[in-house]
Amino acid sequence: MAPGEADSWGLGVAPSASDRDLTGLGSDLAGWIAGGPRLKLSSEPTVKEVPNPHYLPPYLYTNNLYIKQRRISEPKLDNLNLSIEPFRTFLDNIFISVKTTKKYHYPRLIILLETWVSLLPDQTWFFTDWSPEDDKDMLLQNRTGNRLIYTNCSSSHQRLALSCKLEAEFEHFIRSHKSWWCHMDDDNYLNPVALAKTLQRYDPSQPWYIGRTSTATPLTIFHQDENQATSFWFATGGAGFCLSRALALKMSPFAGNGKFVEAGNRFWFPDDVTLGYIIESLLGLKLTVDFNFHSHLEQLKSISQSELENCVTLSYSEERDETGETNVIPLPGPFNKSVDPTRFYSLHCYLFGGVYCPS
Ligand code: UDP
Ligand code: MN
Repeated sequence: MAPGEADSWGLGVAPSASDRDLTGLGSDLAGWIAGGPRLKLSSEPTVKEVPNPHYLPPYLYTNNLYIKQRRISEPKLDNLNLSIEPFRTFLDNIFISVKTTKKYHYPRLIILLETWVSLLPDQTWFFTDWSPEDDKDMLLQNRTGNRLIYTNCSSSHQRLALSCKLEAEFEHFIRSHKSWWCHMDDDNYLNPVALAKTLQRYDPSQPWYIGRTSTATPLTIFHQDENQATSFWFATGGAGFCLSRALALKMSPFAGNGKFVEAGNRFWFPDDVTLGYIIESLLGLKLTVDFNFHSHLEQLKSISQSELENCVTLSYSEERDETGETNVIPLPGPFNKSVDPTRFYSLHCYLFGGVYCPS
């Protein structure tokens, strides 16, 4: 029986979380898989349909009936009032980079600045694109405490431009001398307490690559010259990922000085895939998968309220599905969806509280 199929008892083989992710494979990656000239997935990703929804086992989180039932039975949880104080020294040793682009500065960056970045203002750097004809936004520059980096990368959502910004993030991290680098997209919520608790389990003087996969199988490249194939996993950029300093140093011959963009160009890879390729295929190291990292390639409403505090990263997508719903975490308040469509303000109030949180 294949994963995700239900048998006559309504039971089945639990699909791996990465199987579930494929239900919303991002347009960027999906387009790239379809269009990449020299790369082929070792098996095509397919969305699995389950015939009888009434017999769904509880691990099939994509089932709306199950999600609704669970939500009704879930007690209303009190605000957690988490504090980052016990983790401050540890967090000071992390370099956080947020990849952004001009058209997303408002509102995406403002949402981050007013929520989780307010807890880590000195550790968080924003990488945006800029060309000489563009004006720089000094107001926003001030709001980030001068941590908005105008890279020389162009503002198109091209693979090459995306690799360019990740290379800039990498180079700034190396120069920061911090022990950990965590990359975020500008639609990620990062919980600093969950992040610290996670990274404290690993030794940054060893190479670590930690994040979440978004494909059901590893990617395979066929090297025609050598008549050989290599397979590798990559951590999806939209869920955020973290690298130890030891790994970044080890990667530096392949990643700094234009090498990262060069590697991406060679196989026509997006930035997160290029990173996976360098770490797994060139360095022979392994991704450590952590399912507390989340992107909007998953059904975010399947995360229960009580699970939210353990999530290292979360995300949202404001695109509506066939039922008219956006892909957001299931928090009922304190803000309604017209004020807080991404749910990040409500999440921030639930986890940490803040002066703007309604009591
Ligand atoms: N992005 C970028 N340049 C662009 C469009 C997007 O650097 O022209 C960044 C964006 O700021 C975000 C990431 O790429 O950090 C992913 O973008 P988005 O969420 O729009 O797309 P998806 O998650 O669907 O790939
Ligand atoms: Mn996104």
